[in-house]
Amino acid sequence: MPKDGFSVITITEQVHDKAKQRYAQKVKSGQVDKNKSFSRYINDLIMEVIEADESFALQAPFMQKIGLQDNSIMIKDNKIGRIVEVQVHGKDLICMHDERKDCAHVGYAYAIPEVYRLMAERRGTK
Ligand SMILES: [Zn+2]
Repeated sequence: MPKDGFSVITITEQVHDKAKQRYAQKVKSGQVDKNKSFSRYINDLIMEVIEADESFALQAPFMQKIGLQDNSIMIKDNKIGRIVEVQVHGKDLICMHDERKDCAHVGYAYAIPEVYRLMAERRGTK
């Protein structure tokens, strides 16, 4: 039985091993505090994903991420009924639909965790 305030879930060994590997890498590189347990790491990870998902839904209920491809992020904008491409240009994101760097699509793209990480890495390399 788990401790009070905790629940047990079952995940596949494949996911467990992959997560454990990632956790070890992050601890080694200092991105995760070595005092943080693997369980806590997974706990926080799930929370981050859920919160990001919730903030997406609040921010732009009419937008949906279709996918990421090389330097493009495809977003479905249900308001205009179109798929919009946001391209990564160096350290900027540019919306091909609006030809702007500051439209709602770009804002939405920045809020996608993978994109945010990619942009943070690019900013960090200069
Ligand atoms: Zn746009």
